[in-house]
Amino acid sequence: MPGRQLIMNFEVTPTSHTFEAYRSRGGYATIESTLKTMQPADVTKEVADSGLLGHGGAAFPVGRKWGVMKPIPGEIHYLCANADEGEPGTFKDRWILENAPHLLVESMLITSYALGVRHAFVYIRGEFDLPWRRIQGAIDEAYAAGLLGAKLFGTEFALDIVVYRGAGSYVCGEASGLITSIEGRKPYPRNRPPRLTVRGLFQKPTVINNVESLANITGIVRMGAAEFRKVGTAKSPGTQLISISGHIAKPGVYEVEYGYPWAKFLDEDCGGMLHGAKMKCVVPGGISTKVLTRPEIENLTLSHESVNPAGSGLGSGGMIIIAEGTCMVRLLQVLLRFYHHESCGQCTPCREGMGWMHRIIDRIVEGKGAPEDIDRLYAISHANDGTTICGMGDAAGYATVGILNKFRDEFEYYITNKRSKCDGRLECLA
Ligand code: SF4
Repeated sequence: MPGRQLIMNFEVTPTSHTFEAYRSRGGYATIESTLKTMQPADVTKEVADSGLLGHGGAAFPVGRKWGVMKPIPGEIHYLCANADEGEPGTFKDRWILENAPHLLVESMLITSYALGVRHAFVYIRGEFDLPWRRIQGAIDEAYAAGLLGAKLFGTEFALDIVVYRGAGSYVCGEASGLITSIEGRKPYPRNRPPRLTVRGLFQKPTVINNVESLANITGIVRMGAAEFRKVGTAKSPGTQLISISGHIAKPGVYEVEYGYPWAKFLDEDCGGMLHGAKMKCVVPGGISTKVLTRPEIENLTLSHESVNPAGSGLGSGGMIIIAEGTCMVRLLQVLLRFYHHESCGQCTPCREGMGWMHRIIDRIVEGKGAPEDIDRLYAISHANDGTTICGMGDAAGYATVGILNKFRDEFEYYITNKRSKCDGRLECLA
């Protein structure tokens, strides 16, 4: 087991998602005691003191985000749980929704109490059928048990939660794209300021937190910030759910205590490489995080302060393992096809840049590449950096530069010989 567990510390069974099962392990006791013994500001302070970092990818401190929203009595405020999870290789929020949906509901109750929210949304990708049925079922069960709605636990606190199913676009997971989608418009991300905590959904102050970030709230309030900080490291408190896929023997979702040795996680907990292959590199936390080779991660731990100085990041926890023999040119082609397809088209560097990059990599794979194409890919990546409304313009560049920096020789070989150094393989045959 990769360290201590905060979210997965229960047995997953065919009924572990139900109200009855959640209640039997102390579910909804924390919101009840919170309402009766804590002021909303105390809850916000506890979360801020815990040092909880956002789990959606940016690792922004959750307490700091909450602190920007100053509840105004009588004013409408919103909370949105971001369950869009569109990053390829990232699937840990779905695990929470499928197996512990009541944990999210209870955490949203506690969060809403802290922030003065009376109306909350779960924004979920439309294709997620089972996760949608599980969270909708949990909300229905909570209403039936009197744990959502008005006068909860005999107090004046009230909360309604609505599940909103998106149509499945990468930018729907971007916070400002998400709220315009709920408003019934195209999910175009928008420029900030104003921050969404100041003017968000329907122009009202809105906090948007990732599902895993919210899932931590019940535990933090139940155990207290000081106890929470005993798990993980000083700069990365708590745990991270890692969804691991690719050429690994035991893919799946693991909860890992920050500071856990990375090599041990791969070799022991995840069973090592698929078919005993040799590891070429790893995408650490979602496809926009830069790849790292096996020697580069050998002495790193799974914590932000260990991975960031190595030139990458833990991001959303979507880890993809890549074996020796995999063609990095073809791999980049897959990534650029995704980014090009998902660009919403608002910003010229993203709309045109993604198209150029996609066409260049297609040309190389077809054996029609020119030596200058590698520098063109660099130039477009750099031109996108920081010049677009949302982070997607940057993300494709990060992925591209990360792969080119480490595996330039494969691109040169492909252009010179009009074929892959690795037979164009993406699968693991070792
Ligand atoms: S960066 Fe791309 S996805 Fe983001 S708003 Fe601009 S065009 Fe849309």
